[in-house]
Formats: sequence, structure tokens, C-alpha cells
Amino acid sequence: KWGQLRQRLLKTVGQNNYTTWIEPLVFSEVQDGVATFNVPTNFMGNYVSQNFADLILYELNTAGAKVQRVSFQVAANVAARPSTRVAAPETPQDTSPAPLDELQAAPLDPRFTFDSFVVGKPNELAHAAARRVSEGGPVTFNPLVLYGGVGLGKTHLMHAIAWELRARKPELNVLYLSAEQFMYRFVQALRERKMMDFKVLFRSVDVLMVDDVQFIAGKDSTQEEFFHTFNALVDQNKQIIISADRAPGEIKDLEDRVRSRLQCGLVVDLHPTDYELRLGILQTKVQQYRGSYPGLEIADGVLEFLAHRISTNVRVLEGALTRLFAFASLVGREIDMELTQDCLADVLRASERKITVEEIQRRVSDYYNIRLSDMIGPKRLRSYARPRQVAMYLSKQLTSRSLPEIGRRFGGRDHTTVMHGCKRIEELKLTDGQIAEDVEMLRRALEA
Ligand code: ADP
Ligand code: MG
Repeated sequence: KWGQLRQRLLKTVGQNNYTTWIEPLVFSEVQDGVATFNVPTNFMGNYVSQNFADLILYELNTAGAKVQRVSFQVAANVAARPSTRVAAPETPQDTSPAPLDELQAAPLDPRFTFDSFVVGKPNELAHAAARRVSEGGPVTFNPLVLYGGVGLGKTHLMHAIAWELRARKPELNVLYLSAEQFMYRFVQALRERKMMDFKVLFRSVDVLMVDDVQFIAGKDSTQEEFFHTFNALVDQNKQIIISADRAPGEIKDLEDRVRSRLQCGLVVDLHPTDYELRLGILQTKVQQYRGSYPGLEIADGVLEFLAHRISTNVRVLEGALTRLFAFASLVGREIDMELTQDCLADVLRASERKITVEEIQRRVSDYYNIRLSDMIGPKRLRSYARPRQVAMYLSKQLTSRSLPEIGRRFGGRDHTTVMHGCKRIEELKLTDGQIAEDVEMLRRALEA
């Protein structure tokens, strides 16, 4: 039994925590509703009881054990001499979160407002829906479900809604918390036998916001309680706002009734960011940073490069920019391409696009309707040379190949030829609208 439980804990706490804290636990016994584990050291006992007791308790109860609390005792070899046995923490409850009757919303991040949220094609629907519910008018869609991958702005939008509602309708009781916190509160209420308080509290909110709801998938009793809370609030016409990392229909181990409840509101997704949105976000962030780093210069093209090359995850994008600013101010240099490449080598490598020179050549020759062999071959005709230069330029922009490497892939041309080709396209992009458009179309097609 404990073996299975450990597997579930591993999933929840992650490999590192698991190896350090959960794996060494030795299950001892359950008596009078207390589950006892042996631990090698007192320190470990304290740590685990402070950080993982709720979770272990929760999993035990989910698995059908009737346990009110868990306790940790220093291991058996020490226990062989009872007089030297170090007392395990007597009451793990003492270290649990704030009492239920002080139920508080999770703190809101002051940076996550509508003002600081950059709107683009990939998130405009989600943004519009968030704006609408933040007006606090009559409830028109319930629940509002925002879903999308990591770092696309779900939490940002939820906090923005909460800030806005606080400002506009201070009389409303707005509760924002993560699904994980919801679970902990629930487990705590069970353990302290305060389910009535729990129900009364959660049913008294006017707007309930639960972030990362996928967390409760597979956690049966939490889902059930969530379902009841949800229904009670919907019946009272109270607004519910939910986020998830994927569409409700795609969350595994979510009860059908919870799933269908989520689907009967307005479900909008945040798409992965596109180039324009990333550039917009970078420009906005640069404006914000200017205050803290006066006099810092960014060379032309750096932001565009980052928007091209760094992942769709906005958190990664922000992290890169922060690092770049810190680094530049430390060494007192302008942020140019060289500094950027140096400073962000690891990030750039990790988010490297898998676009290859060969793929670019294929696309470009298709686009201009010429044979691949002619584009790579020695012919100097303008109708081959121009597409060839476009392909070289895109290879330089979109792959990490060096000029000589690119040259080699274009029929063994010299790196100066490649450099010349890239320069030529850069010039033409400024003077020849058709070329500019061709390059842009191709870039998009390749990045799609
Ligand atoms: P999620 O909850 O979807 O994983 P977050 O809301 O935590 O993502 O966003 C990650 C980071 O990216 C935050 O710092 C957030 O401010 C920022 N961010 C995401 N989208 C935008 C956007 N459209 N405009 C400005 N910042 C954004
Ligand atoms: Mg989030």
C-alpha cells in the first residue's frame, strides 16, 4: 500500500523532494487514527511534518485509510535505546497553515495587472473575457475557464481580474487561490473536523477564482468537494473563474461531472505567443526596466532576435531579458548581439528551433518555384541567385549555423559569399517591398 502511495507522492512533490524527504520514510503503523513513520533524524521528521504531512495525510485518506494525523519518529535503531530517543514532533497540527476561520485569499502579485498585460492575437479572447468579468456586472458566463500552456499569462490574468474587482467593487468578497491550496484547506478541515466551517466559508464568497485546477485531477475527495462548492456558488449566481493548463476535456482523471461543469461556461484558451506578441512584451518590459537601469542601451535588432529565438513561454522570455539587463549593467556595456549571445548562450541553445538549412532551402525553392538543385548549384542567373540569397539570409537568421557551415550547404560556397548574400537581402528589405514581404512570409511559414 505504502509503495503505491509513494508513487503518487512522487508525482506530486517531484523527484528531488521525493528522494530527499519521502523515500527515506519507513511506514510503521496506524493506531487510533495516527499513522506513524520512522525517519532517520529528528531534523528530517520536523521538516517532513511541516512540509508534507498534509499531503501524506491526504493521500492516506484518499487510499481509504482512516487517519486523522501523521507522526514521525526517529528510526528504529535509535529507538532500541528508548532513553536516547529523540521525541518526534508531538502535534504536527501546530505547524499547519492559518486556521480555517481566517481563510484568506492567496496574495496577489502587484505586477500582474491589466495595465501590464500585453494583448496580441494569441491572447485577445482570453483578455477580453477577463476584462468582462472584472467589471463585476451581472454574471453572463459561468464559469469562465482560461486555459493554456505554462507561462502564457493565466495567473497574470486572474490576478488582474482580482485587482480590478477589488478596485471597482470593494464590497465583493473575492477569493483567489490555487487548486492546491483549495485541497490543503479541505484536508485541514477534514482533519480538524471543521467541514461545516469550510463549507460556510467557501459558500460565502462572491467571486471564486481557482488557479491550475488540473492539480485536483485524480484527487477524488477534493474533486467531490470542489464540485459541491462549485454548484452551490453557481446556484447563487456567483462568478467562478478557473484556470487550467489544458482544455477541460483533456484533463485526465477529472471526474466527468466536474469536467462537464467546467465546459458549460465560457472556455477560452491562451495560444502560444507569436513573434509579434513576444516583441510587444519585450518592448513593454524594456520600458519598465529603463527606470531601474538608466542609461542602458539596446542595439537595434536585439529584441527582434530574442522574439525570434526564445520560447513561447513568456516567463522564459522575461527571465532572459532580466539576465541581459543585469549582465550589461554589471559589465557596463551596451546590449548588442554579441553580449546577448554570450549572456544567453544556454537559453538560446535550449530553445533552439529545429529549423534546418535544408528545410529552408526546400521552402524557398518551392516559394520561388525553382528547382532545389538550381538554387544550390552554381548558376548565377538572377532568378536563382536572389532566392539563394534569401535562403542564406534565413539560414543565418533562423539556424545557429555559422557562415562557413551555411556556405558548405550551398554547394560549397565560401563564407564571404554567404555574408554578402545576407547583406544584400538586408539592404533589399529596406528598399524593395516585395523582397521584404517574401522574407517575412517565408519566415512565418518556417516558424509555424
Ligand atoms: P501561467 O500562469 O499561464 O503559467 P503566468 O501568468 O504566471 O503564466 O505568466 C508568466 C509570466 O509571464 C508572468 O511574469 C507574466 O507577468 C508574464 N506574462 C505572460 N503573458 C503576458 C502578457 N501578455 N503581457 C505581459 N506579461 C505577460
Ligand atoms: Mg500560473
